[in-house]
Amino acid sequence: MADYPQTVLEFRDWFTSEQACRDYLVQLRWPGGVRCPDCASEKVWTMTPPFYRCQGCGYDFTVTAGTLFADTHKPLRLWFEAIWYVTNQKSGASALGVKRVLGLGSYRTAWNWLHKLRRAMVRPSRDGLAGVVEVDETFIGAPEPGKRGRGAGGKTLVLIAAQAEGRRIGRIRLARIVDASAASIEPAIRQAIEPGSRIQTDDWNGYCGLESLGYRREVIRSTAELGENLLPRANRVASLLKRWLLGTHQGAVRPAHLDYYLDEFTFRFNRRTSASRGLLFYRLMQQAVAVRPVLGKDLIGGKRVPSTTDRG
Ligand SMILES: [Zn+2]
Repeated sequence: MADYPQTVLEFRDWFTSEQACRDYLVQLRWPGGVRCPDCASEKVWTMTPPFYRCQGCGYDFTVTAGTLFADTHKPLRLWFEAIWYVTNQKSGASALGVKRVLGLGSYRTAWNWLHKLRRAMVRPSRDGLAGVVEVDETFIGAPEPGKRGRGAGGKTLVLIAAQAEGRRIGRIRLARIVDASAASIEPAIRQAIEPGSRIQTDDWNGYCGLESLGYRREVIRSTAELGENLLPRANRVASLLKRWLLGTHQGAVRPAHLDYYLDEFTFRFNRRTSASRGLLFYRLMQQAVAVRPVLGKDLIGGKRVPSTTDRG
């Protein structure tokens, strides 16, 4: 049996009840059998569904404890519908779309759900980009570029790293940075790109220290003639990102929330060639049971709560 439904009819057949949804989560979360989330003991009693009790420490828990679905007051079936819908929207789902399709009472709920899902789109530790990687920055929400070395002047600066795959774009990483100084750029690059990689940039001095961080830097000098095509992959990603923000979200992205939109864009972009949308559903489900729960109040300020576990 496949690990995920291939079509919407299969999806409906698989998840006909809360129990069916829980069984699916159990398989994803504990492929080797139910474990206590607290002490990791494998000696667990099955109580009245949905509860389990740890024989070691006495902890009562459910399969959603400690996951994105923890403490939800809505049926899991509705969450599954939301994830199916979100992963099947080729260009991304808006809160309004989620509200409409699921019949949720409030826009606020739909918005919260989308943001929880976006958090699940980024695995705590991912392989960095490698090989040849183009790096550039772009301003979001700005008609014209601001001053590079100084603060972004109210606009948001995003670092783009795009791996080359032949002449095409391989995987990407995006990171919001406060300015284009080396102090801001370097940590973002270290998180996104494996040491030893060849990094192509323009001649901006914010990239001068890359060699000392273990990268090979290749400066693609800017000339007026070549313009935007100097770093074609990074530039292409920048324009796709801007178009996506404008199209799907009507540009209504507050800078404080931009991190999550960047995560969603990256998730979709890096899986854009997936033949099966079902596989996208499966990946997001896997990651949803691997992340810590997010409280509503954590979303409002747009702060990222780091995950302490990595099962990805
Ligand atoms: Zn225990």
